[in-house]
Amino acid sequence: MEKVRVAVIGAGIVGLSTAVCVAESIPNCSVTVIAEKFSPNTTSDLAAGVLSPHFSPETPIYRQRRWFEDTFAHVYSIAQSEDAPDVGVQFLSGWEFFEKPPKERMPFWSDITLAFRFMNESELKRFPGARFGWTYTTLQCESNRYLNWLEKRLMKAEGQLQEGKVMDLWELDGKYDIVVNCTGMGARALTGDMQIYPVRGQVHKVHAPWLKHFVRTDINNMYIYPGINSVTLGGTRQRDDWRLSIDPSDSKAILEKCCVYEPSLKLCRKLSEGVGLRPTRDVLRLEKEKLERDGRHMLVVHNYGHGPAGVGFHWGTAKEAAQLVKEVLPEVRHRPRYTASKL
Ligand SMILES: Cc1cc2nc3c(=O)[nH]c(=O)nc-3n(C[C@H](O)[C@H](O)[C@H](O)COP(=O)(O)OP(=O)(O)OC[C@H]3O[C@@H](n4cnc5c(N)ncnc54)[C@H](O)[C@@H]3O)c2cc1C
Repeated sequence: MEKVRVAVIGAGIVGLSTAVCVAESIPNCSVTVIAEKFSPNTTSDLAAGVLSPHFSPETPIYRQRRWFEDTFAHVYSIAQSEDAPDVGVQFLSGWEFFEKPPKERMPFWSDITLAFRFMNESELKRFPGARFGWTYTTLQCESNRYLNWLEKRLMKAEGQLQEGKVMDLWELDGKYDIVVNCTGMGARALTGDMQIYPVRGQVHKVHAPWLKHFVRTDINNMYIYPGINSVTLGGTRQRDDWRLSIDPSDSKAILEKCCVYEPSLKLCRKLSEGVGLRPTRDVLRLEKEKLERDGRHMLVVHNYGHGPAGVGFHWGTAKEAAQLVKEVLPEVRHRPRYTASKL
């Protein structure tokens, strides 16, 4: 039987994890990841990599919960293994606090993370302006290492990587039987989906190895995330802002606000700065679509729009996307095979 040819467009955390899930769960299929940019040049490389979902009111809770739970279980099993440092995975504990208690008093993920509890008075006192908060242990993927590990895992499953920009999904017609679209912000130009918008995030990476706990708050969008190689300081959340250049006023503001909550950061050594556009959609797009043009059909699975939670949801959405690929397989098997050269 001929192999089913699957193209996954995108080599960020969503594309690579989807490619791995497809290659490992569907027998007799060949998977090719096609991307304009690979690690270390994707948005995913810039992420602090923390598994802490941001509640999206438009997406049903049961779906967010399932994506987070599946992702947590997957990363947890790596954290418990001897591979953890190579893969770039670690446990991370810390505090998240608010000026006003959020509507969602008990977040849907509280029983998925470890040791979740509300902050007590003495903890709240530590952080100026904190009125309400919680503390928990979660997991973190050091983005570069984790993306490299995903690439290697895909190679092991006989997947392939190919550099290139896809200008039109129909370019792949005839070359592949199923196309999986994991293009993040690129989906806007590729599919004409105007529901996806950028939320600009600027960060500092600093050397401050004495920091072992994360601190994050909705007050001025401040966060401090210690990672394996560096500490990520943020941030900004600027909707519809496409600028990828460093804004010096943001740089200054980020350092100042982080020092309010962690004064020892005045002693940190700056390593680098970066900007990324969170590919945001009110409802993440995870669905199959049958495109039609001039009597021809093209089977597409979309998996994009993870916004601020791409790391927190990646494995759960990758598993679901692989399931959607399985669901469209019967259509491929009943279609006559033609190749691009015969078109
Ligand atoms: C500062 C910052 C901090 C963050 N921190 C966290 C965090 O701690 N936890 C968390 O869960 N999330 C975090 N995020 C969000 C997270 O980074 C994103 O949700 C995630 O990276 C999205 O992954 P992706 O694979 O969809 O997109 P990307 O990483 O942007 O990958 C998209 C891929 O598609 C390719 N592509 C696009 N268009 C085309 C095309 N036409 N042809 C070929 N290839 C194409 C690109 O080249 C790239 O390979 C953060 C984001 C930012 C900016």
